[in-house]
Amino acid sequence: MTFIADRMDLIQPSPSIMAMARAKELIAAGVDVCNMAAGEPDFPTPPHIVEAAHAALLRGETRYTAVDGTAALKRAICAKFERENGLPYTPEQISVGAGAKQVLFNVLSCTVNAGDEVIIPAPYWVSYPDIVRLNGGVPIVIATTADVGFRITPAQLEAAITPRTKWLVLNSPNNPSGAIYSAQELVAIGAVVGRHSALHVLTDDIYEHLIYDGARYTSFAQANPSLFERTVTVNGVSKAFAMTGWRIGYAGAPKALVKAMEKLQSQTSGNPAAVSQAAALAALSGPMDFFEAWRQEFEARRNLIVSRLDGRFDLKCPAPQGAFYVYVSCAAQIGKITPAGQTIRDDSDFVLYLLDAYQVATVQGAAYGVSPAFRISFATSIPTIELACGRILAACEALQ
Ligand code: PMP
Ligand code: GLU
Repeated sequence: MTFIADRMDLIQPSPSIMAMARAKELIAAGVDVCNMAAGEPDFPTPPHIVEAAHAALLRGETRYTAVDGTAALKRAICAKFERENGLPYTPEQISVGAGAKQVLFNVLSCTVNAGDEVIIPAPYWVSYPDIVRLNGGVPIVIATTADVGFRITPAQLEAAITPRTKWLVLNSPNNPSGAIYSAQELVAIGAVVGRHSALHVLTDDIYEHLIYDGARYTSFAQANPSLFERTVTVNGVSKAFAMTGWRIGYAGAPKALVKAMEKLQSQTSGNPAAVSQAAALAALSGPMDFFEAWRQEFEARRNLIVSRLDGRFDLKCPAPQGAFYVYVSCAAQIGKITPAGQTIRDDSDFVLYLLDAYQVATVQGAAYGVSPAFRISFATSIPTIELACGRILAACEALQ
C-alpha cells in the first residue's frame, strides 16, 4: 500500500508555477535571470484597493464570512457582469472562491462524473486538463495552430462531441496564445453547443481587459443569450487589478451549481479571506481609470517583443490579441546542438537551455499542449524585455 494516494499520479505540479518558482529561486541566489515565466501583472495593486482592505481590517472584518462570498461582494460582481458583459446574473447565481483556480476546480468537481468528457482547445492553460483528471473526467483536447489564430472552428467542436461530453472550456483571451474569439465566432460555436443539450460552456474570462489593437471583448453568454443557463462565466481580480496574491475569483453559474459549489467549499477551504473580499469589493466598485494606462503599457511591450523576435532565426512569434504572453514556435531550433554539445530534442530542452545558458526563464510549450513552442510573459519591464530578447537571439545564434 502506498502512502500517497494513487490519484496524485493523475496530475503534475502546475508547470507555470514551477517555472516561476525556479526563476525566483535563481534570482534569490544572485543569478541575473530575466523572469519571463511570471503569469502575473508586475504592477502593484492600486492604492485605493489596499486602503479599502486596511479600513476593512480596522473595522473588524477579520472573521468568517458566508462560505461562497459576502452579500456585498456578490452584489458588486452582479453589477460588474451587467456593466461590462451585459450578463444578468443575480446574487444566488454567484460563487466566490480563493482565486479563479479554486472556482474552476469547484465547477468541474461538482459536475464531472467518472468518464465524463471535457473539451479543451489547445494551447490551453496548464490547469484545465489536470483539474478534469483529478475529478475522474477525461480531457478531450482539440489542437489548433498559429495559422488559424489558435482558435477552434465549429466543425472541430462538432466532431469532438460525444454522448459523454459535459463541458467545452473556452478561454478568451487565451493563456498562452492570446487568441480572442470575436462575437461572431462565439455565435457560431454557440450554434453547435445549442444542438447538444447536455453540453455546457465553461468560459474563463480572466484576461478580458487585456486586449489590443482596439479589439472589443465579448463573453460567451453575451453572444449567446439563449445559452445563459448552460454557461458558467469565470473571472477574478488577479489579472485585471494586479491582485494575484489576494486570491479572489468568482463565477456566474446556474443556481443549482452555485449551491453545490457552496457545499464543496464548506467542506474544503471555507470562505475566501474576508480582507481579500473587502479588497475585491473595492476593486470591482471603485475607479477603473488606471486601467487604460496599464493596457497601453502591455500593448507597447507586446509590440516590442514581437518586433524583436518574429522571424529571427526562424522563430515564429505572432502578435497576441490579448493577455500578456507571446507563444513562440521554436520548431527551427529542434534538432540543433548547443555549444555544450547537447541536442535540443524538444521545447522542454530549449527552455532549459535558455535558462541554464542564457538566464532567461520561460515555459515550455509541452505544458500547454502545442509543441514545439515556448511561452514568454511580457508582464515585465521594457528593459527586461529588451535584455531577454537579446539573450534569446544570442541563444538561437549559438545553436549549430
Ligand atoms: N485562468 C487562467 C487562464 C489563468 O491564466 C490563471 C492564472 N493565474 C487563472 C485562471 C487563475 O487565476 P487566479 O486563481 O489567480 O484567479
Ligand atoms: N496563470 C498564471 C500562469 O499561467 C499563474 C500560474 C498558475 O496559476 O498556473 O502563469
